[in-house]
This record gives sequence, C-alpha cells and structure tokens, in this order.
Amino acid sequence: MKTKVDPDLCISCAVCTNMAPDLYVMNDDGVAEAIVDTVPADMEDLARESAEECPADAIINE
Ligand code: SF4
Repeated sequence: MKTKVDPDLCISCAVCTNMAPDLYVMNDDGVAEAIVDTVPADMEDLARESAEECPADAIINE
C-alpha cells in the first residue's frame, strides 16, 4: 500500500499526525505529508484508519 496527502484538501487538523506520527508529519507549509511512500505491512491498518478519520478526505491510500 502507498499513502499520500493531497495538500490542497488538508485542513491542518493534525488528526493523522497524532494518530500515526510514523506515517504523517506536518510540513513547513503547515499541512500534513506522508513520510513514507510505501506503508510498512504492520502499519497498513493505521494508514486506513487515518484516512477514515481525516475530516477532509485528504489521505489517499492505494
Ligand atoms: S487528518 Fe487530514 S486534514 Fe487533518 S492534518 Fe491529516 S491529512 Fe490534513
């Protein structure tokens, strides 16, 4: 699974960076970004849950 954040949709709420700090961080532009390209297998559930919890549907997993 790959994960990324659409910076145009992110509203900087920090839900994902709090839920999954090993997958997402707030960048210098004040929006979240993924710090991994390919999600480690043991973190795929966390990536899915982060996408579900993101209020802006800004997290794209594929
Ligand atoms: S949960 Fe969604 S809107 Fe909130 S910081 Fe993360 S990507 Fe942005």
